[in-house]
Amino acid sequence: MTFHILLVEDEAKLARFIELELTSEGYQVSIAHDGIAGLTLVRESDPDLAILDWMLPGLTGVELCRRLRATGSKIPVILLTAKDEISDRVTGLDAGADDYVVKPFSIEELLARVRAHLRRLEEEKADGDSLRFADLSLNPRTREVFRNQRAIELTAKEFDLLAYLMENPRQVFTKEQILARVWGYDFVGDSNIIEVYVRYLRIKLEENQQKRLIHTVRGVGYALRCN
Ligand code: CA
Repeated sequence: MTFHILLVEDEAKLARFIELELTSEGYQVSIAHDGIAGLTLVRESDPDLAILDWMLPGLTGVELCRRLRATGSKIPVILLTAKDEISDRVTGLDAGADDYVVKPFSIEELLARVRAHLRRLEEEKADGDSLRFADLSLNPRTREVFRNQRAIELTAKEFDLLAYLMENPRQVFTKEQILARVWGYDFVGDSNIIEVYVRYLRIKLEENQQKRLIHTVRGVGYALRCN
């Protein structure tokens, strides 16, 4: 995934320098040289992170940050500032900035902050996407499954079957429902295949004598539950 960074900095040379550094790190960069243009770019380009100079013509970086937050944007905002007085930091934080870099700064420091914020963003995103049940977690995006923090390797069908059950915990599904959803309506074959896959899944999920989570509901089908 290519991250998109918005840079609003009125010193053209500095803006160009930061842009080149960010681009060489593999980021996509949009630049504005004043606050108003910055605000327009935020709306148009939907950045993943913003680097805003504090002192800008038109609209200050702090005001820009405040307006950005007012629209509901939660992207990380790093303020560049020559003012390092504590009162100014508070003003910036009140406006919703996440971080500060005080001018003059080393580009490595700025890049490190950018990386840290984007990493946190990715982690939060991955985490937010995960389905959880008891000590089990499954991420549909990365297709990772963990039980009590231990990674579990699943085949594609095992994963799909578990994901289906985890999307609807405690709900009882018939074999026909599972077949239609996980194997597709055009599946031709024996519905006993589900017993086989449930057995595989249980073996993997209960490797360390953990509690059974996929239960057989006699005469009906299967459900994910704690007992
Ligand atoms: Ca400035």
